[in-house]
Amino acid sequence: VRRGVSGEERSYDRLLGGLLADGFDERSCRSRYQSVLYRRRPGRRPAAYLVSKLRQQEALQRQCGPGTAAYAHALEQLRSGKSGGDMAGSQECKYLVSISYRGLGNRILATASAFLYAVLTGRALLVDPSNEMGELFCEPFPGTTWLLPPSGFPLASYTNFSVATAESYGNMLRNNVIRTDAAAAAGDVPPPAFSYVHLDHDATEQDKLFFCDEDQRALRRIPWLVMRTDNYIVPGLFLVAGFRAELGRMFPEPDTAFHHAARYLFHPSNHVWGLVARYHDAYLAAAARRVGIQVRVFGSQPDSPALLEQITRCAQRERLLPELLAAAGDDDDGDPVAPPKSRRRKTTTAVLVTSLKSWYSEQLKGMYWERAAAGGEAVSVQQPSHEEFQRSGARSHDAKAWAEVYLLSLTDALVTTAWSTFGYVAQGLAGERPWVMYRPDNETHVPDPPCGRDVSMEPCFHAPPFYDCRLKRGADTGEIVPQVQHCIDMSWGLKIV
Ligand code: GDP
Repeated sequence: VRRGVSGEERSYDRLLGGLLADGFDERSCRSRYQSVLYRRRPGRRPAAYLVSKLRQQEALQRQCGPGTAAYAHALEQLRSGKSGGDMAGSQECKYLVSISYRGLGNRILATASAFLYAVLTGRALLVDPSNEMGELFCEPFPGTTWLLPPSGFPLASYTNFSVATAESYGNMLRNNVIRTDAAAAAGDVPPPAFSYVHLDHDATEQDKLFFCDEDQRALRRIPWLVMRTDNYIVPGLFLVAGFRAELGRMFPEPDTAFHHAARYLFHPSNHVWGLVARYHDAYLAAAARRVGIQVRVFGSQPDSPALLEQITRCAQRERLLPELLAAAGDDDDGDPVAPPKSRRRKTTTAVLVTSLKSWYSEQLKGMYWERAAAGGEAVSVQQPSHEEFQRSGARSHDAKAWAEVYLLSLTDALVTTAWSTFGYVAQGLAGERPWVMYRPDNETHVPDPPCGRDVSMEPCFHAPPFYDCRLKRGADTGEIVPQVQHCIDMSWGLKIV
């Protein structure tokens, strides 16, 4: 007798098509296997090759991670400034340390980028535990930790590394400490024990040579890399010819790179999951339709009627929210004298607004209360928190921010604010192309059209290279490979399509 979903199909869902490893302790991270129950859309299916790469990476993380003999040996080499000879062909573990800084969205994009780079280059990923990385997220790899143990790490001030650090890849190139020519490739010049990859917004041209093949060959020989980025650099990895075939096998649908990386890596810790699940059950679960609207207010921008108009115009034009009837039309809404139980059940739309400010959602809520919606639809507007000011790194602040990003990702349709990494994370986890509200030229102007459907669910790389490594000259990097184009919310940015 067939009883609905077979055991195999059920486990396919719970593990997201093999993306997640089985066998984690469920109590220590309830979101990992429960989140699938909260999603109406299953998301994209990972390629079998990606699944096998993830299992390989997990084995590598266990073999090289903190507490292993390999890790102790690698730390010793780093302490003594040795690179352990020519790394090419050696069995020793290699590492990538990812610095965690800036807002939550930035940190998530940086970590996902570092992870994909580590997978591509056979390195163990270690995440800097600053800014509550260990409190907000569960461990993604079974049987080991991805957090860099602070004690005993020889590069004591790595979180202060900057564009001026002598060991940055760009500075080492400039000072001929690293060479990418044939002699270096043949192993004549021993590689340094570590290098710092600076891909922050102020990265220099030399730093950005990171996105060239010959530089990747040089970097491959360095056992320890420490990376700083607040960006999603994966579009840049597609520009490296040597990575392209592997990326193509891992992501036959290139626009799912972040979607799969994010669903694999970022599981809300139990405290954050409580915030997500309770809010969802109270305000979203019963609605026929759930619309997420992310209103990112940058800096000290005052409450703006123009932005409110942009939000409503966008949502109504794209039929995410119903139009409002004129005040006199209120009683078109069914027979006002009919007793409630004989009335047809109405469609309900739950609108989840996330913002640092409360004004926008209060205005929207008022609109749909004071006037009836066309078609008699019932619209509820809710906002979980309004923290007023950005306070990245503050304790409960980032837990709420993470819960809100996750809640946005559970909605059926998303409206996001241009330039915001917070919105990028939500759309990637959701597996949805959002409607992006364009950035206005000035604060009183409502862009026309107010928003547009994004070309893919991928985040935008805000600070890409503008260099053709093969021709060795400046170039439009949105024209080099078909998978990488410019973003609709930031014309110079790059995104995978
Ligand atoms: P971005 O600056 O928009 O790219 O996004 P980030 O997440 O990197 O940084 C913004 C930070 O401001 C977040 O991490 C939050 O701490 C805070 N923040 C911004 N918007 C919201 C919001 O809608 N809700 C909450 N709770 N926090 C927000």
